[in-house]
Amino acid sequence: MAANRIFLGNGSDECIDLMYRVFCEPKTDNVVAISPSYGMYEVCADINDVEYRKVPLRDDFSLNAEALIAATDDHTKVIWICSPNNPTGNAFSTADIERVLGAFEGIVVVDEAYGEFSSQKSMRFMLDRYPNLLVMQTFSKAWGSAGVRLGMAFASEEIIALFNKVKYPYNVNMLTQQFALKHMDRLGEVQQWIETLLSERTRLIKSLNELEQVEKVFATDANFVLVRVVNADAIYSHLQAQGIIVRNRNKVEKCLGCLRITVGTESENNAVINGIKSYGTE
Ligand SMILES: *Cc1c(COP(=O)(O)O)cnc(C)c1O
Repeated sequence: MAANRIFLGNGSDECIDLMYRVFCEPKTDNVVAISPSYGMYEVCADINDVEYRKVPLRDDFSLNAEALIAATDDHTKVIWICSPNNPTGNAFSTADIERVLGAFEGIVVVDEAYGEFSSQKSMRFMLDRYPNLLVMQTFSKAWGSAGVRLGMAFASEEIIALFNKVKYPYNVNMLTQQFALKHMDRLGEVQQWIETLLSERTRLIKSLNELEQVEKVFATDANFVLVRVVNADAIYSHLQAQGIIVRNRNKVEKCLGCLRITVGTESENNAVINGIKSYGTE
């Protein structure tokens, strides 16, 4: 991809903040986002004083393109779509995302932070077809380098030029640049990590499905799995007491009773399985 269609940021979190600073007028404009989703979209909306409109996913966590479009008005500048979505784990169909892209005149952001774990093709390949598409990716997840702070946005030349005009001059420091250049040719190794993770993910899902404490394991395209359990708060504390940290999503829209469990190493996955299994049996 041509360099003038790539923005490099201090993590993709910088790209999220820039979407507001570049495209939204505080107190006047609004953005529309799927719910539940990644928390930073709303945090940055609040900080930039931009109204944040949440549109619930369907009960099966699929994208409700019509509802997203219906929530927009003349002041809507951005629609946020995270795919695979955090915390639900599922990727949305390309056809559903294209419905939103075709019907909305503002910018549609597709956040692919977990894209490497999905069998679905990146929306990056749709950029020529949709000038209003912006795709975000990051070194923080599959590349295991969250501390390095390097995120990417891919979009039209015009959008990238605006991002480069508004960003801080030295937003990606020299150590990060050196790290990225040095690790670029490790794609094969990263691919290997992903393969290992995906086979562990399959094993984790199978084991979780066999536990009586687990009510439902939701389909996932990410490096985590959302699980509805018999008593989310109690199981969360039970795991925490054993030194196992998962995300308690019990209070999140559509995720009642759910924990989000990140796929770990073989022994970490065994620990979380045994940890849940031992709940309520003492
Ligand atoms: C982790 C994450 C990011 C942010 O990643 P950074 O590049 O570390 O800022 C963005 N979006 C989603 C959905 C994430 O889960």
